[in-house]
Amino acid sequence: MKYSILDKSHDPMGAAISDFHRSGKAARLRVLSSMFEEDEMPVEHLFRPLAKMPRLEQKALEMACGRVLDIGAGAGCHALALQERGIEVKAIDISPLSCEVMSERGIKDVECVNLFDPQLQGKYDTLLLLMNGTGIAGKLERLPSLLNRLKELLADGGQILVDSSDLKYIYENEDGSMDIDLNAPYYGEVDYQMQYKNVKGEPFDWLYTDPALLASISKQCGLQCEIVAEGEHYDYLARLSLCTTVPLA
Ligand code: SAH
Repeated sequence: MKYSILDKSHDPMGAAISDFHRSGKAARLRVLSSMFEEDEMPVEHLFRPLAKMPRLEQKALEMACGRVLDIGAGAGCHALALQERGIEVKAIDISPLSCEVMSERGIKDVECVNLFDPQLQGKYDTLLLLMNGTGIAGKLERLPSLLNRLKELLADGGQILVDSSDLKYIYENEDGSMDIDLNAPYYGEVDYQMQYKNVKGEPFDWLYTDPALLASISKQCGLQCEIVAEGEHYDYLARLSLCTTVPLA
């Protein structure tokens, strides 16, 4: 894993967040992928207030407690909502431009740091990874490294709240059968590249996981996985926590 942060000149999402913060509008944030048609990320969505968040995210914020670490916080919508409720929250992101905006929006504890940077230390009661938090693993083979890293930051009795989507719907036929090539890489592995105005980011891998797979890999890493809510479109919120052994009477 690289421990780096983004270069401002190659940070399209950060540039879009910065423009939207300063002027209330932004140009198109283009999402390119070798696997899908070109798409667009609505920049306003990154600034969603509590009332406009998907139900799964509202649920995650309701469940957040103690000291919270918002990982890949973006424009800071979740950190801000928690801080307004009096919850102690630190927001981290690899985008210097996004981190500047989060500080300007009033988030008190913001750090531009990569989750995998060993300099990031501390113990948190809640680790929040929202808007497809398993994405940060990039590839399925790196999911255990992500989970093990999260465990290092977890206080005793703490929880990880992470959402993802099961991309099986892309391969599902009308009769419910699937066209998944079992010899191909896991179907939730996606590559993206973003572009905003003339700022083009480096291509990156992003991992979507189905709930059963997340549960089984969590278990291998000593975490128990509970699916706490399901969304309207194959999306779900999971709560991961350390397995505790209960002594027999
Ligand atoms: N959670 C926010 C933003 C999601 S986009 C929201 O729901 O609106 C994903 C964010 O994760 C981006 O801002 C990206 O810069 C950040 N990110 C990606 N890899 C990261 C890493 N290794 N460490 C910290 N942040 C990361």
